Amino acid sequence: MASTQKVAVCGGGGFIGGHLVGQLLQRGAEVRCIDIKPKEQWYQVHGQAENVVADLNLLENAKQAVKDRDVVYNLACNMGGMGFIENNKGLCMISVLINTHLLLAAREHGIKRYFYASSACVYNADKQTSKTTDVYLKEEDAYPAMPEDGYGWEKLFSERMCRHFREDFKVPTRVARFHNVYGPFGTWEGGREKAPAAICRKVIEAKFTGNHEIEIWGDGKQTRSFMYISDCLKGIDMITHGDFVEPINLGSSEGVTINQLVDVVEDIAGIKLKRSYNLDAPKGVNGRNSDNTLLRKVFTWEPDTKLRDGMEKTYRWIHDQMASRR
Ligand code: NAD
Repeated sequence: MASTQKVAVCGGGGFIGGHLVGQLLQRGAEVRCIDIKPKEQWYQVHGQAENVVADLNLLENAKQAVKDRDVVYNLACNMGGMGFIENNKGLCMISVLINTHLLLAAREHGIKRYFYASSACVYNADKQTSKTTDVYLKEEDAYPAMPEDGYGWEKLFSERMCRHFREDFKVPTRVARFHNVYGPFGTWEGGREKAPAAICRKVIEAKFTGNHEIEIWGDGKQTRSFMYISDCLKGIDMITHGDFVEPINLGSSEGVTINQLVDVVEDIAGIKLKRSYNLDAPKGVNGRNSDNTLLRKVFTWEPDTKLRDGMEKTYRWIHDQMASRR
């Protein structure tokens, strides 16, 4: 990437955005970082970036965000783990305004590359009902459309807008479907956290309080794959600057059950907890994993950080956050 590249990271106050801004700055890019949250709530504030607090649901703000930029990364949306997206479908769908306005602005300003962060939640729910651990989702499994209600519909529609803005208005869009990203500097409390961070927090709480019990959402047998943040950044870079234009999976294919994820965290923490299962809690689909056949074919690469290695770093970071409050 040329060192003078001008980029906009929309949602840069968030988890993935904060890491992306750091990487782009390291590579010498001129970075504008835009987020709706007050700056003190950003996961990372990089002093060398132009940091803007603005609501990208508004067209005027979207235009200001992409003005003079070569590359736009749209990572901004109202989201969280299952507990959030199952109970906030309307809020999730409003994010369609962010991508719509950013695409309109990108068209007006002749942006050279536009990256959109989609999600594994676009996949047809009927293809994820199996109780086995082997549900690998291929790109074509998004259709016929029956995505996760609310959040998944917004993502699928926004993917489609990226496609039609590319075809009809020549906005050079690229789309990745992220599968569960985790790592330090992410949400670990407050209701929007996802399973890896939530489990780290619960295990650390058990250690701190001496109450050696853990509540698990669902029966613990639901399967997922989790991608470490450094793999996510590598994939975003390849997809943004590559020639492949269709939505493509970006996820780890190392599938685990939630019970196995708890095993990993217990092992890192050096503790064993009594498990209780909350069958009424939001648990999402039964089985989901990333089929990386296309990713490997196009980029001769796939995310390869071992879950245990990534979880170790994530656990240590959350542990430090929690310890500093005691
Ligand atoms: P995040 O919630 O940490 O970051 C999103 C950021 O967008 C937040 O900081 C939020 O304040 C900002 N935002 C929301 N509405 C906004 C608005 N109107 N104007 C400006 N900013 C706004 O989430 P993340 O984990 O960093 O995810 C980034 C992107 O990747 C999202 O589009 C998300 O849907 C997608 N994704 C993430 C995962 C994952 O596991 N983290 C999985 C699939 C897809």
